[in-house]
Amino acid sequence: MEIVHIASEFAPLAKVGGLADAVAGLAKALVAKGHRVEVILPHYDLFAPLELREIGRLYIVEKGRSIENIVRMTHYEGVQLTLIEARHPEHYFRRGKIYGELDDNDRFLFFCKVASHMLLQRKQLPEVVHLHDWMTASVPLFLAPHRPKRLIFTIHNLNHQGKCARFNLDRLEISYDEKELADPLEPDTLNLLKGAILKSDAVAVVSPSYAKEIQTLEGGGGLGPFLARHKKKLRGILNGIDTQTWDPQTDRFLHAHYSPSTFLEGKKSNKALVQEKLGLTPNEKVPLIVAITRLVPQKGPDLIAYGIERCAQLGGQFVLLGSPAQEEIRTQFEELQRSLAGDRHIAFRFEHDEPLSHLLYGASDFLFMPSLFEPCGLAQMIAMRYGSIPLVHATGGLKDTVFDPASSEKPNGFLFQVPDNKGVSSLLERAFSFYYGPRAKWEELILNGMGADWSWEASAQKYLRLYSD
Ligand code: ADP
Repeated sequence: MEIVHIASEFAPLAKVGGLADAVAGLAKALVAKGHRVEVILPHYDLFAPLELREIGRLYIVEKGRSIENIVRMTHYEGVQLTLIEARHPEHYFRRGKIYGELDDNDRFLFFCKVASHMLLQRKQLPEVVHLHDWMTASVPLFLAPHRPKRLIFTIHNLNHQGKCARFNLDRLEISYDEKELADPLEPDTLNLLKGAILKSDAVAVVSPSYAKEIQTLEGGGGLGPFLARHKKKLRGILNGIDTQTWDPQTDRFLHAHYSPSTFLEGKKSNKALVQEKLGLTPNEKVPLIVAITRLVPQKGPDLIAYGIERCAQLGGQFVLLGSPAQEEIRTQFEELQRSLAGDRHIAFRFEHDEPLSHLLYGASDFLFMPSLFEPCGLAQMIAMRYGSIPLVHATGGLKDTVFDPASSEKPNGFLFQVPDNKGVSSLLERAFSFYYGPRAKWEELILNGMGADWSWEASAQKYLRLYSD
């Protein structure tokens, strides 16, 4: 099958978050199954040098002026990457970052127009065109009246919907149905994500539970009732993780490698190194909890802060590796850090540190993830592969991947239902008593997580079904 993804991120070349991992993971898994897979991306200035071949030039009209675009290609682990360099006077993709610009709508609408015109110039459209999130949601408008056999759209996060004004589309000389694009809450605003949902043959959502949650008033970000009306199109398909990068038997950032039969020794040795490196009291017996996260409202920063304090009261150790995006959240945690200064059971790192994250997964007994909502979540799957037990809020993809001893015959972690301090407190108490309880039960929990298949293989199979339905 010939499958073309149009996306704004691809790991590790252009990555902001889980979207990059998902696009790359799915593309590579489809290649492994023998399909021809192409990913079309903007050619950002932040790409590492790549060996590229120019395959064409394309002139696109915006606000009455014609703008040159150079299309180049390369291969990356079997995936054809097609990069569009927009020679745009406003340097749309030469800003040193992927998002966060005032003209993000214009930048990605322009990219969609070029990508669509490039596809229309080919002898025929690919069998499958697969779009990801609001950034590529306008492709069906630019392809119209043509369309591929299957047009698939994946919602990775409903928080951003590409809300824009008429002039954002009008400057690209495109026709559209205002009613179709009208945002349900702000009818004068156009909603690109809504348009893509209407135009696609199927809409994948990155976990079955999130697919349900987004159909509600609470979880639908303004699109709940609309999504409920289109629920026949929705399919919850979990993301996988890159099992080559995330492998405790080979991970180059681990102090000690280990497998399901050697995890006790391996994790002990990694724990000792973490305690030494981060200035924690050396003690192999004390439970070590980590949180490895962007510190943004979605991830439940108040609950993380409370969890740290509660863990300290219960005599555990806690390491927070958190990258704060907002000043208030950074300040909140710096104050907490000051109030706990001198406590050799707690350590804070406010940055994005890839090597340290690997070591923390390999050293910890628990991963704490109290997200208020979580479309899929990768950290809990990585943790389980590394024998670190996830302690999570029962929401979205967390609910679909973590199973509690209270309700499952094959448990692999602990869930709490209500995202408040009481919920966190009883979660930690339960986890600690399990930790100090019979070792055989504890080890069974770890082995259930380590033995599960978190690869892209199963999810790619589900996507293939969606492509050929
Ligand atoms: P999201 O994509 O919403 O951030 P996920 O759980 O899907 O959440 O993916 C998070 C990924 O980013 C995981 O691989 C996690 O290890 C990594 N990560 C998050 N914060 C940090 C950090 N501060 N340092 C290193 N890695 C991080």
